[in-house]
Amino acid sequence: MPHSAPQGPSEPERPHRPERIERRARAQEPPPLPEPLAVPVADSHTHLDMQEPSVAEALAAASSVGVETLVQVGCDLERSRWAAQVAADHESVWAAVALHPNEAPRLAAEGGDGLLDEALAGIGKLAALPEVLAVGETGLDYFRTGPEGVEAQQRSFRAHIELAKRLDKALVIHDREAHQDVLRILAEEGAPERTVFHCYSGDAEMAQLCAAKGWFMSFAGNVTFKNARPLREALAVAPPELVLVETDAPFLTPAPYRGRPNAPYLIPVTLRAMAETLGMPETSLATHVAANTARAFGY
Ligand SMILES: [Zn+2]
Ligand SMILES: [Zn+2]
Repeated sequence: MPHSAPQGPSEPERPHRPERIERRARAQEPPPLPEPLAVPVADSHTHLDMQEPSVAEALAAASSVGVETLVQVGCDLERSRWAAQVAADHESVWAAVALHPNEAPRLAAEGGDGLLDEALAGIGKLAALPEVLAVGETGLDYFRTGPEGVEAQQRSFRAHIELAKRLDKALVIHDREAHQDVLRILAEEGAPERTVFHCYSGDAEMAQLCAAKGWFMSFAGNVTFKNARPLREALAVAPPELVLVETDAPFLTPAPYRGRPNAPYLIPVTLRAMAETLGMPETSLATHVAANTARAFGY
């Protein structure tokens, strides 16, 4: 179900707080609205269900800075159902549905392959809806899931690839510390026509490989982090017609706002940092990204 904004009376004035707590509270405050983009782009990957503001507030803030389209990503069956509903209710929102790579082994541990298959069948039904443009995020996450979960993860990944191809939807891949196996399984199964590496985390060499296959690379706020030089090197070799931008909000808030809540309205911050890395005018990159996202998801 979509969130609804609280309708209660306005909050009473708060008592004075010691300075230290005041400072910490300020660190958690949402970052300010950036300058609006001259060319509107999409946030290709967000989780509105995990963010503090209501959906209406998040969409209004995003739209006010030129982020006029969002892909809402569900990570389990329940949240995927919610994502599809939000997409049905809002013209600017599309949905992606899947069992996250960390959700699949959780289900398998709880109820074996039977429970996993049941959930996959539920995802299959949702993925057929017209407002659902992608199957994902799926893939492999060897950072959060240990060796005991690898089999369920890979089984689930293969099932999602098959589903995306059968329904001709985009495939959104989550790849965390699992590059080799992600690429191997994609090769074994055959990648769908439109494949997106969300929160791209490979190096320049892998970016060249993705480019050769025509796979999209979606960059998140971590491309702005000081220690993320390999990511910027990957961005620099990625063909402009395969580059997307995303927030993955509420995670990965771009610099200089690290540690504060992320949201789709912060896309301009990441896009501007990317344009600077590429030595490309912001409007040129935005024009590419807007067209790429539409092509990747087919809207
Ligand atoms: Zn992810
Ligand atoms: Zn995500």
